[in-house]
Amino acid sequence: MTKDNNWDREVDVLVIGSGTGQMAAVRAADQGLSALVIEKLPALGGTTSLSGGGMWIPNNYKMADEEVEDSFEDALEYMKHATFGQSEEPLMRAFLENCNDMVSFARELGFNFMTLPTGAFCDYYENYPGARTYGRLIFPIPTGAPPAGGFFLGNYLITSLEKAGRERGVEYMVNTAAQRLVLNDEGAVTGVLVEHEGKELRIRARRGVLMATGGFSRNEEMVMAFLRAPIYHPCPPPGDTGDGHRMGMAIGADLRNMNESWGWPVYWDPATESPIPAYSPELGKPGSIVVNRKGERFFDEAGPYARIIRAFQHYDTDGLEYMNVPGFVIVDSIYRMNYPLGGYDPKLPLPKWVSKADTLAELAEQLGIDPAGLEQTVESFNRHAEQGEDPEWHRGASAFDLQTAGDDSRGLVNPCLGPVIEPPFYGAAMWPSVLGTKGGLRINGNGQVRNVWGDSIAGLYATGNCTGSIMGAGYPGGGSTIASGMTVSYIAANHMLDNGSA
Ligand SMILES: Cc1cc2nc3c(=O)[nH]c(=O)nc-3n(C[C@H](O)[C@H](O)[C@H](O)COP(=O)(O)OP(=O)(O)OC[C@H]3O[C@@H](n4cnc5c(N)ncnc54)[C@H](O)[C@@H]3O)c2cc1C
Repeated sequence: MTKDNNWDREVDVLVIGSGTGQMAAVRAADQGLSALVIEKLPALGGTTSLSGGGMWIPNNYKMADEEVEDSFEDALEYMKHATFGQSEEPLMRAFLENCNDMVSFARELGFNFMTLPTGAFCDYYENYPGARTYGRLIFPIPTGAPPAGGFFLGNYLITSLEKAGRERGVEYMVNTAAQRLVLNDEGAVTGVLVEHEGKELRIRARRGVLMATGGFSRNEEMVMAFLRAPIYHPCPPPGDTGDGHRMGMAIGADLRNMNESWGWPVYWDPATESPIPAYSPELGKPGSIVVNRKGERFFDEAGPYARIIRAFQHYDTDGLEYMNVPGFVIVDSIYRMNYPLGGYDPKLPLPKWVSKADTLAELAEQLGIDPAGLEQTVESFNRHAEQGEDPEWHRGASAFDLQTAGDDSRGLVNPCLGPVIEPPFYGAAMWPSVLGTKGGLRINGNGQVRNVWGDSIAGLYATGNCTGSIMGAGYPGGGSTIASGMTVSYIAANHMLDNGSA
């Protein structure tokens, strides 16, 4: 904390972090305020720019265009279940009341959106009341581009927001790290002390500061202190170090959901030191299973990563270990001929981190799995898979599984199930990683940060992964994280517009 005086620079709205927070700067500038985005890394965009750009927007205009029924009430009912008791109704309402307005504003900026025609990554808990199996996930789509998802869309989202921002006069400073919040005598946040090219600058924010610094997945101490289980090879860029959490804590901000993360299993490529998605569009295809060191399956491979990740967090109280870390994907040659593995198309040679063997027992030895356990699991899995059944984990029984992982082209009884039968066999270790953490500063329905006494801290707003997520401990559907970050940014900018100086 540092006191209010001697400003080097003044703006109306100061956004710290250039991911989903950018929406606030663009909105504020569009409505005539001056806005500055500071980013501590050399490039703009944070985790958002690495993402698929998908947004979970219930009752959106694409659904209306396609005559897919949805309603505010159903979405609220669903969220009450899908947030697992760790959100608050005013926050859920604020999200649902504003997410479509945010999308309308994005359309005014020139964005177009699409749904995925297959309905892949639909609501993740489709048995909860109010769920939908199609339509709530939308992607920003470059005009004229093919209707396919992909991680380039997050980059498109960020570069397009930046373009819209610059057109409206938003200023950007990279290599600029916020260090401390500046307060006036009443305890209101009036600006930020930043480090820029080795120099300290004091920037005043007349309407408000929006903390949008992302999560803390790259801060080992915070990960150890707060998360419910270890994580490996986090996906966010190195700036994800919990700076905003600490700046908020230093002035008495309350926290929420600090043990939660947006979990996501990955492979690890030691050559490029990069995490590679290990998720249902691959894992749930016929001819694959995932097992632990005992050779036992431990989840529905075609299911949503939000659900799968919980299985990695299971602690074995007999063996005193996280018995499902790492997990191992096992596929056969029929799978290999038909589908990508770790993103490697059947035509591409596989990298060294994928093992190959002529028998399951040899593959198990190479990977460190109990060979007898693996053979027994595969024998039982194959017997049921031929019948299109998975009595243990119900793979291929849900709309999510079929839409996201199923392969209808092979005439199988169940499009997600085929035996693991044809040598050679392939396998690789997979780890519980995160797309980001999702605990942090407690906000109210205006995006204002609350202090430990429950009052809002004047002049301070927060959005995205540095907040205690509106989505609580759950992950209602694909796109929940960017949708909530962008919507709260939009809400916060509107609140700053409606309320004068701090
Ligand atoms: C491969 C991948 C795919 C994904 N796909 C999707 C998807 O399709 N849909 C979805 O909803 N989610 C997706 N996610 C998750 C999503 O991208 C993130 O949860 C979300 O983008 C986080 O947004 P944010 O604004 O909170 O943080 P970020 O986008 O990470 O932005 C925070 C920024 O703040 C900067 N910063 C930190 N500290 C400071 C400081 N002191 N001063 C200045 N700047 C600072 C950081 O460097 C960073 O650039 C995906 C993630 C990954 C990795």
